[in-house]
Amino acid sequence: MGSWFLGNHAENSTTFAQLLSSVVEGIRVGRERIWPHDENMITSSMIESPDFKDEVEHLQKTLESVAGHLSEHSVPFYSFRYAGHMSMDVSLPAVLGYVLAQQFNQNNVTPEAGSLTSAMEYVVGQQLCYIMGFATDTSPQSASSLPVGWGHITADGSIANLESMWYVVLASQVPRNLKYYALSLKLAIQPDQELSFIASTFIIELADGTRKLLRDCTAWELLNLSLLTVATIPLCLYEQYGISSDALSAALQPFSIQTIGMEELNRRFDISQPAQYMVSVSNHYSWPKGCAIVGIGKENLVEIGVDLDIHMDITHLKTKLEECLARKQAVFCVVAVCGTTEHGAVDPVDQILELRKEMAMKGMSFMIHADAAWGGYFATKVTYKYPTPRRPSYAFSIPLNDWTNKQLYHLRFVDTITVDPHKSGYIPYSAGALCMRDSRLKFLTTWTSAYINTEGVDDLNMGIYGVEGR
Ligand SMILES: *Cc1c(COP(=O)(O)O)cnc(C)c1O
Repeated sequence: MGSWFLGNHAENSTTFAQLLSSVVEGIRVGRERIWPHDENMITSSMIESPDFKDEVEHLQKTLESVAGHLSEHSVPFYSFRYAGHMSMDVSLPAVLGYVLAQQFNQNNVTPEAGSLTSAMEYVVGQQLCYIMGFATDTSPQSASSLPVGWGHITADGSIANLESMWYVVLASQVPRNLKYYALSLKLAIQPDQELSFIASTFIIELADGTRKLLRDCTAWELLNLSLLTVATIPLCLYEQYGISSDALSAALQPFSIQTIGMEELNRRFDISQPAQYMVSVSNHYSWPKGCAIVGIGKENLVEIGVDLDIHMDITHLKTKLEECLARKQAVFCVVAVCGTTEHGAVDPVDQILELRKEMAMKGMSFMIHADAAWGGYFATKVTYKYPTPRRPSYAFSIPLNDWTNKQLYHLRFVDTITVDPHKSGYIPYSAGALCMRDSRLKFLTTWTSAYINTEGVDDLNMGIYGVEGR
């Protein structure tokens, strides 16, 4: 790893300078190749002019002065003596890649704008999914029936958390969201509506596994469908009735959360209690922020107590869920913090997953999101159920404790995960990521051809799936 960082006394400065100059050389060669016969924008007489020289000298002086001030007035995050905030030494690949890529693809919004970098972002998403334990499109699991994961880069972890909420609570771009989708569909198949022809035959699976005509489902049953049941409804409608996404979109539009709003949907279904989010008291402040932004209100972010090791108290969570079940108040999601910001503590992911199974039998379903902004990368150290990987003799290792090992192993079973390259990924500049266990979930936020896309082309279209337009 000595070759990956600059070092506390910039021991690798010669290597860094060489690598940096090969980045500049790569950029030069790249630019010379394109329209080689075009005239130069910057001519040699310009370069020789006094104005030009003054400008460069000014830039040089400014850089020197800022560099001096920065080193004098900054905390030496790169030093091992410093452990705090979210900053550490920036890895050399993270700096060099940043400088290089921004000369070609400043904006990864679509494959046209970031032709190579969009593909690279997709690969990075797959790598992160692999680290989390999700099946990826190249892993041997993908041959089995396991869903294939999908992930993408966000500006930071707060945005990744917000995006996971957006999937469940409301998707602003299109009239789709997990909790209320089936309610809108039930309205759209009423007798006088265009989709009424499916009412007597369209069957869906409820949380406890029973199957029922959508028409006959209660609001409570529809609010508790599993994530995947909702995500695949459009596909089922297409396969069973040939209803295209455009036709479905048009039929649903008058009843969607986006058109009539959550309040009106609640009124029509006599839902008097808002759905809730549950997360431990040690949650990161992006959660109350996210609740405010998506409009569910901070009051519906239910904080669950922790034990002396700052792990979410599963008994307390169970009590809160049972209370919701008793008064038929839906729960959007339970968030497991994997690496709390202050203490690095990891919630009982395994027990939350078990609890969801138990609650599903009673007709209650919710999404499970892991906020692994800090802890996600430590999944690379998971040895639970695996033999300890062989290490070169010179590499030292601090293993995970048994609890953390087990919980990070169970990340592979949650629905969505936030992980921050800018935290434990040695890329301490703007970079977060959202990974989902089942790539089909991304169609919750967009209508883009959930079934037409067989080529995987839309996997690269990062801009349409996220909160950021880029
Ligand atoms: C850091 C962190 C986040 C996201 O914060 P950003 O600075 O926006 O990346 C979310 N959750 C936890 C637990 C965190 O530690």
